[in-house]
Amino acid sequence: MSRRRSSAEGPLRTCVQCGAVAEKRRLLRIAGRPGSAWALDPAGRLPGRGIYLCREGGCVERFASRIRTRKGGARWKMGDGGMDLADRLAAMTADEA
Ligand SMILES: [Zn+2]
Repeated sequence: MSRRRSSAEGPLRTCVQCGAVAEKRRLLRIAGRPGSAWALDPAGRLPGRGIYLCREGGCVERFASRIRTRKGGARWKMGDGGMDLADRLAAMTADEA
C-alpha cells in the first residue's frame, strides 16, 4: 500500500490576511501587478501576481479595510487602485450577507 496521498487536491495557497493554507480553488484570488490595476479573479485565471483570501471568516472584509489605508495599500503597492478594489470587495461581501 502506498503512503502517498492522492494528488486530487489542487495547489495550496496561503491567505494573506490570516495565514491559513487552503486549496487554491477554495480561496478568493485577486490578480494584478504591483503599481497598476488589481482585479477580483474568482476563476483564478487572470495573469499577474495573486493575492489569496479565505472566502469565509471575515478575511475579505478585514483585507478590504486594510487596503483602504495608505499603509495597507502600500503593502501591495496598490496605489489609488486599492480604494477601488476595497469597494468591490465590500460590495461582494455585502451581496453574500
Ligand atoms: Zn484567511
